[in-house]
Amino acid sequence: MRQFVCYNAFMTIKEYIKTRKEELKTEIALMKVKPNFVIVQLNEDDASNAYVRGKLKDAAELGINAKLIKLDISTSEAELLKLIDKLNNDKAVDGFIVQMPLPKQINEETIKLAISPDKDVDGFHPLSKLNPCTPQGIMNYLKHEGVEFLGKNAVVIGRSNIVGKPMAKLLLKESCNVTVLHSKTSFEDMYRYLENADIVVVAVGRKFLIDDKFKFKPSAILVDVGINRDENGLHGDILPERPVKFQTPVPGGVGLLTRLALMENVLKIKRP
Ligand code: NAP
Repeated sequence: MRQFVCYNAFMTIKEYIKTRKEELKTEIALMKVKPNFVIVQLNEDDASNAYVRGKLKDAAELGINAKLIKLDISTSEAELLKLIDKLNNDKAVDGFIVQMPLPKQINEETIKLAISPDKDVDGFHPLSKLNPCTPQGIMNYLKHEGVEFLGKNAVVIGRSNIVGKPMAKLLLKESCNVTVLHSKTSFEDMYRYLENADIVVVAVGRKFLIDDKFKFKPSAILVDVGINRDENGLHGDILPERPVKFQTPVPGGVGLLTRLALMENVLKIKRP
């Protein structure tokens, strides 16, 4: 099975990441003081460990100073808030994240709101100057590939605070006609919106929710955010190889764009 569908001159995501990383490396190499980025990790499940490893690897590759602070899984919310306060006030730290998900005794929303919007490189705080990494990474890529937004019909499936809603906001900012669908949308309505869509972003978390029952314009661009793991590996929310202009692969698609956007967010804080 092919890993991605690309019927036009779109640069593959892997090629794009390589090119963009070279540009960022050059920019960082010229900085007298390198960006300082901190990751706070409590959960040590396989997925969290893999995400943290990836972020540390990306930072090292680009020349960003990254430090991992590991806290015990039994750490209380008060203790974590104390550390966040310290990082908020540490002038040597440009940006930091607390790796999600957090253990049950800690309220994730409280933590997201405790991180200073000036250092919130995940872009989760409502007052953050930065956008959440997944929608920002998708927009960076689509813009790099010269995708037209003005007056185009964009459909976002999923309305979470970290993907669906900010994605819709960014598409609206580019003057797309944006429709947001969710679990209460009927099949008939979803079908109707999708067959008229120019840009589709699916962020649900259901393997192949968008299957061959749905029809697309041949010129449509499909962005698959979903990550669904089963015994055969990772799968997206969209059945692969839809007959469209471009469809992002899973794995090797939006996950890579998200990782890159985090590094770009660290850099944005450091830039004058
Ligand atoms: P989430 O918070 O669980 O939100 C899922 C959204 O999907 C909700 O808005 C929900 O609607 C909607 N939904 C559920 N079932 C649906 C259905 N049958 N039809 C239409 N909409 C439906 O998830 P999330 O954090 O946004 O993440 C979504 C997916 O993206 C997950 O697979 C996640 O692992 C993945 N993800 C990937 C990356 C990456 O870097 N690749 C980053 C973030 C997330 P309601 O609001 O009505 O419940």
